[in-house]
Amino acid sequence: MKTDLRWKPQVDRARCNGCSDCITVCPTEALGLVRGRAAVVRPQACTYCSACEDVCPTGAIALPYQVCFSPDCSELE
Ligand code: SF4
Ligand code: SF4
Repeated sequence: MKTDLRWKPQVDRARCNGCSDCITVCPTEALGLVRGRAAVVRPQACTYCSACEDVCPTGAIALPYQVCFSPDCSELE
């Protein structure tokens, strides 16, 4: 199954200090360290709970959202 990484947490490697707080808090072990910075290593496991975004001390993680006002948002899938 192909996973669309647009809808997984985005890590700004320039802001990440490698503290691992997000990895510790992630309930599904979707995150890991890659070359000293956080990365989504198991994107299929991410439930988009936003715990990583909340805990990050440097604001390095963002969860993108797209708001659709159309009654039929199927074109976004
Ligand atoms: S909590 Fe933030 S600074 Fe710490 S490893 Fe995760 S992304 Fe990097
Ligand atoms: S959004 Fe939740 S499940 Fe996904 S990587 Fe962050 S803490 Fe883990």
